[in-house]
Amino acid sequence: MSYQSQPKASHFVNGAYLEDSAGAPIEVIYPATGKAIARLHAATPAVIEAALSAAETAQKQWAAMSGTERGRILRRAADIMRARNRELSQLETMDTGKPLQETLVADATSGADALEYFGGLAATLTGEHIPLGQDWAYTIREPLGVCVGIGAWNYPTQIACWKGAPALACGNAMIFKPSETTPLSALKVAEILVEAGLPAGLYNVVQGLGDVGAALVGDARVAKVSLTGSVPTGRKVYAAAAEGIRHVTMELGGKSPMVIFEDADIEDAVGGAILGNFYSSGQVCSNGTRVFVQRPILEKFLERLTARLASAVIGDPMDEATNFGPLVSQRQIEIVQGFIEKGKAEGARLVTGGKRIDREGYYLGPTVFADVTDDMTIAREEIFGPVLSVLTFDSEEEVLERANATPYGLAAGVFTRDLTRAHRVAAAFEAGTCYINTYNLAPVEMPFGGSKLSGVGRENSKAAIEHYSQLKSVYVAMGPVDAPF
Ligand code: NDP
Repeated sequence: MSYQSQPKASHFVNGAYLEDSAGAPIEVIYPATGKAIARLHAATPAVIEAALSAAETAQKQWAAMSGTERGRILRRAADIMRARNRELSQLETMDTGKPLQETLVADATSGADALEYFGGLAATLTGEHIPLGQDWAYTIREPLGVCVGIGAWNYPTQIACWKGAPALACGNAMIFKPSETTPLSALKVAEILVEAGLPAGLYNVVQGLGDVGAALVGDARVAKVSLTGSVPTGRKVYAAAAEGIRHVTMELGGKSPMVIFEDADIEDAVGGAILGNFYSSGQVCSNGTRVFVQRPILEKFLERLTARLASAVIGDPMDEATNFGPLVSQRQIEIVQGFIEKGKAEGARLVTGGKRIDREGYYLGPTVFADVTDDMTIAREEIFGPVLSVLTFDSEEEVLERANATPYGLAAGVFTRDLTRAHRVAAAFEAGTCYINTYNLAPVEMPFGGSKLSGVGRENSKAAIEHYSQLKSVYVAMGPVDAPF
């Protein structure tokens, strides 16, 4: 791999790169060419043990530092990430295939936001004083200990920071296992944190497949597990964490609705549907893949959507003019093609796309189906690719019932000029993150997460603090002990 930012070894443990070539090889494939760009090794039991023991030792000293000192290191790391944004974005593009046009503004920058935000919060984390008449109590906000983060492959830098920043701000140590599909970027996050002054052992990265994740989740030294992944993996990880009564955050999949009323600004609605279905080639958990369009504007909506999709620049992700890149892997493109075939077979109308693009790499054109009904596979299952389904509706009451008729509850969006209706619909959505007249924005200041099968807990914002710390209560008696005998 020719990019200067290439990590130096497979793992990052106890403040330094670590290699153990006894681990099973992991080929890193550049999705735009399908060619291998790096070869890493999965963590052996020795690497996993080194990470766990380094984290356990380092965490106690880190927790004893003041929040101001911890925060200063995180904020310094944010500055380094911003200064190296281009180099980190190129690496993220190599890892995922996402266009540089996107990675320059959505990955290391989002990671830096999390480091800066939680770095700023670190000094403010306190307990409270509770008056009890003559007596009183106080609470101490304590870290949990060693936290494990397990990431999906669509936002490797962002996920590594969204989990690491709040964990470290609260005084925890983190062991992060990236997806085996995109193992490179998190190593750079670890490297930058150490450069910013993070003591060794507090942010470790170990590579591997699900078995490495499972070994971490099952270890008695681990206090918390935060997973970003699919619902089936979430079930397994949640169950394994339950064995040790560990804290969990589960950021899982979705099948989110986007509801477009006839009074909506049509260009904004089309823009929202594009953002919520084709950004990152559709590989975004919160995507609004069920686009409900009110009947009178259906044809107009489809016409503007297809016209705007025709201007997508599909090509080399390293070319900054490109705004639509490949899918992450051969496996993912096959999964998505399978859904497209099901859509056709079950009677949906293919409006545009649906085909693999004739070039090397895993390119699949932006795909739109119309005449989709609620029972079709493409309207029920998470596709995780550039496939938008258009459904039609007549009334608000009807669309809300249909929008919520899913076991998922990650996100939802509404487009309308009617302010009262917008808030009424947002209140009725069964989803953790809702949008009015926009879609898929995830600023660090706003809680992000799912309801129903889409997850447990919240990332970002002050809400994340609750998921990386716990309260100790101390009762203080100011008088004699009143015992019955
Ligand atoms: P997977 O669920 O396949 O994998 C997620 C991570 O879990 C990977 O690192 C995987 O390792 C690891 N893993 C797999 N099995 C186990 C196990 N038994 N114990 C511990 N760890 C395990 O998800 P994908 O990587 O395919 O990502 C796509 C999914 O992630 C989609 O469903 C998407 O909706 C969801 N997602 C959710 C987001 C959210 O914030 N809600 C954001 C982004 C994605 P490996 O793959 O290396 O084997």
